[in-house]
Amino acid sequence: MGLIVQKFGGSSVADAEGMKRVANRIVAAKRDGNQVVVVVSAMGDTTDELIDLANAVTPIPQGRELDMLLTAGERISMALLAMAINNLGFEALSFTGSQAGVITYSVHGKARSIDVTPGRIREAIDSGAIAIVAGFQGISQDTKDVTTLGRGGSDTTAVALAAALDADVCEIYTDVDGVFSADPRAVPAARKLKTVTYDEMLELAASGAKVLHLRCVEYARRYNLPIHVRSSFSTNEGTWVVKDHPEGGAMEQAIISGIAHDKSEAKITIVGVPDRTGVAARIFQAIADADINIDMIVQNVSAAATGLTDISFTLPKAEGAAATAILQKLQGEVGFASIQYDDQIGKLSLVGAGMRSHPGVTATFFGALSDAGVNIEMISTSEIRISIICRQADLERGAKAAHTAFELDADQNEAVVYGGTGR
Ligand code: ADP
Ligand code: ASP
Ligand code: MG
Repeated sequence: MGLIVQKFGGSSVADAEGMKRVANRIVAAKRDGNQVVVVVSAMGDTTDELIDLANAVTPIPQGRELDMLLTAGERISMALLAMAINNLGFEALSFTGSQAGVITYSVHGKARSIDVTPGRIREAIDSGAIAIVAGFQGISQDTKDVTTLGRGGSDTTAVALAAALDADVCEIYTDVDGVFSADPRAVPAARKLKTVTYDEMLELAASGAKVLHLRCVEYARRYNLPIHVRSSFSTNEGTWVVKDHPEGGAMEQAIISGIAHDKSEAKITIVGVPDRTGVAARIFQAIADADINIDMIVQNVSAAATGLTDISFTLPKAEGAAATAILQKLQGEVGFASIQYDDQIGKLSLVGAGMRSHPGVTATFFGALSDAGVNIEMISTSEIRISIICRQADLERGAKAAHTAFELDADQNEAVVYGGTGR
């Protein structure tokens, strides 16, 4: 008995059958006496298909129009899901992000939410209806334009609504049984985690484990809201994302809680940069002014003979064209030799609170990669994470090797992938 927010991802509502299956699940929660708010994503790979369509029309789609296009995907889902629920004899009302009170900053494509004022959602559930909200979208406070929260952002809509409505739990329904020690699509020996802490999940999400959107974990941590990640295709208990592992939880002792891999980044190398104070600042200011997030940076020691150095950094592939265009404009002013763009890289990250107190984690990791024939191109670390860049073609082999080396492989096959294309 309480208020539940349930979020269903694209693979859970990929077709009419999926919509009906999910509708039954929602109705069951309502029958149990709960108030139910549902957040839904676009059907299947709709968002990717809409992006392909935009790119077929122009190489750099305008942010405002791209957001307008992409939010159509979630609108289709919310209306169909409401119809499927109505067909089961329960009242359901669908709402866009703007109607649900999701207010954001005005940056297109990755807007942060400022505030959630779900007055209409509260009204709907108090009147006995099930509220269905389009995930991933909001409205900008200044421009009143439609915005999107970044790929995978429906998770954040769900947790932000759950926090604003003071829900008892936020359930994230997806196409695997929970959060695993690695992506089950790449590492079939992955094991399901019973619990994972907000801090561990933040590092995993930031490192590309797209099972949860990074910002949704930040929200949950801020409001101490439990998230239950589970499958919409099974009734198995999933993974609880919580503040601390329960007493005696297996994860307490584990050095490594999970391995994440990421194919979504590209690497830009600026060749022959004059090694002078202020040059790096000038380059990265220009990138920042365009709201482009960068991840790893490596600057080599400059060659004594020339006083020139190379700077490499990684960034989301989706921003590669925009960043390259900015740097080309800067070439005359800064005076570097050339720009190289490489979108065939992969990032592999090892996450675990235990690495703080256990020496030798890096040596074991690099040893496993070397045995698997994976060459390391860049390295970065945080207190509880080690990340490397390698060739994309080597990424999954490296993930499997590291998983085995840290004895994370499950005894029996636990990792079932129920749906989705992994796109
Ligand atoms: P949804 O459409 O439900 O939002 P996503 O595709 O965004 O689903 O996220 C679920 C996918 O996340 C899984 O199918 C899996 O391939 C991937 N994934 C990556 N890392 C992990 C992990 N550590 N545990 C579980 N799933 C993971
Ligand atoms: N449909 C959006 C995407 O594919 C948002 C989401 O699924 O969470 O990124
Ligand atoms: Mg997702």
